[in-house]
Amino acid sequence: MRRYQMFIDGEPSDSASGEWFETANPYTGEPWAQIPRGTAADVDRAVGAARRAFAGGPWPELTASERGHLLLRLADVLAREASRLAEIEVRDNGKLYAEMSAQLKYLPAWFRYFGGLADKIQGAVIPLDKKGYFNFTRREPLGVVAVITPWNSPLMLTAWKIAPALAAGCTVVLKPSEFTSASTLEFVRLFEEAGFPKGVVNAVTGFGAEVGAALVEHRDVACISFTGADSTGRRINEAAAATFKHVSLELGGKSPNIVFADANLDDALNGAISGIFAATGQTCIAGSRLLLQSSIHDEFVERLVKLAATARMGNPMDPATEVGPVTTPPQYEKVLSYIDIAKSDGARLLLGGKPASKPECGTGWFFEPTIFGDVTSSMRIAQEEVFGPVLSVMRFEDEEEALRIANDVRFGLGAGVWTSDIGRAFRMSERLQAGTVWVNTYRAVSCMSPFGGYKDSGLGRENGMAAIEAYLQTKSVWINTGAQVDNPFVIR
Ligand code: NAD
Repeated sequence: MRRYQMFIDGEPSDSASGEWFETANPYTGEPWAQIPRGTAADVDRAVGAARRAFAGGPWPELTASERGHLLLRLADVLAREASRLAEIEVRDNGKLYAEMSAQLKYLPAWFRYFGGLADKIQGAVIPLDKKGYFNFTRREPLGVVAVITPWNSPLMLTAWKIAPALAAGCTVVLKPSEFTSASTLEFVRLFEEAGFPKGVVNAVTGFGAEVGAALVEHRDVACISFTGADSTGRRINEAAAATFKHVSLELGGKSPNIVFADANLDDALNGAISGIFAATGQTCIAGSRLLLQSSIHDEFVERLVKLAATARMGNPMDPATEVGPVTTPPQYEKVLSYIDIAKSDGARLLLGGKPASKPECGTGWFFEPTIFGDVTSSMRIAQEEVFGPVLSVMRFEDEEEALRIANDVRFGLGAGVWTSDIGRAFRMSERLQAGTVWVNTYRAVSCMSPFGGYKDSGLGRENGMAAIEAYLQTKSVWINTGAQVDNPFVIR
């Protein structure tokens, strides 16, 4: 079994507790590596290293262009290592290799995009309402950023945060999920080869209540950038308020995928299937509510169930596999519990609803692709995030009703609209309460396009130029030009 070390101040490190915990392969259910069980003392050491790297030494001496070049060099190293890292992610979280390798091959794009942005961060000259002063703004990095990530796409979600944070000039402590720490511990080693100074990027592994909470409480952490469950996000936001930290939260979803009768129904069918069953439903943007216009409802459901029933489950490394295992035992239990919840609320089970027992599923945590029909908004299965391969099908008559159902949840992360009517596409995009709306497609993301949640799905935006704002603060500088000045205390 492989034994990993954390990474603090440029050095591999065991935890202060001297303890490890095991991480398992969801396809076999067997442990394959040991991860250091970090403590508050390790957090203190890592934050100290990040703080020293932020305040002195080579990092703050770099020009913004030099900082950007380091990110570009990291992108090259990452491109070389993408396949190896993808294999580690598959072993740790059970997602399909086809999906993870595509995701990790795209990852360098984040470092190239934000590397290019590093020297385009600009303050402004402010046209004042007072005479005798020159006033300008400086855009300065916040300081130490704690990056706390979930288990479903460990390195992609880390890149979304760390690329803009480093471009802004911050330093970082990474805290990956206790279920999928291995790829982050491999990734953090690449920074030295790319030429980053010691202490700029650190990684502490362990449990949320021990390592995560210690980061959120630490005085010298200026910003928490978190992706995970909404309940955890709420707790983090409350705790971070005690030390006035900046907080960026990417949380859960219950996204609607809305199919109108005038849509290309073949495309919509594929969009509905991949919208929910990709990554075994374990994505924040899963299209977990399928809204079908009444006139096509029955025929579409028949085709949907037939197609989903053919999904090939099995070894996530096999290119022929279409649905992999659920990543963690608690998640598996959660998916199972929602089957009974949905049934007792009156939803009709159309497909699946039980653990998969096919021989190709081995000893892993597999769950059959599951579809419920006759779902209404008042049911828990229509309101709560399952984070598994469970689709709720709902019926609507017209645009107004589709919007009412789509917006009738506390989340607002993504929404899909399938229609051939361009006017309807615009009307729906305007009125859907979601951070991302996809028309005649689903799931597309880019380092260049803002991503984030409305309502309970989060605070702040990742990706795109604005993402860098989360890691910057503004200083206003007043210079007395020696000309006759207005009394600065008089408000005109
Ligand atoms: P989680 O909230 O349980 O854990 C996420 C991270 O937070 C882990 O590293 C965990 O150790 C840490 N943590 C837990 N308690 C903490 C505490 N008190 N203080 C600080 N850190 C703590 O989430 P998960 O189960 O790993 O991931 C699934 C959730 O993530 C789903 O709700 C999903 O929707 C969400 N998610 C959101 C996005 C998005 O971009 N919006 C993307 C992926 C996943």
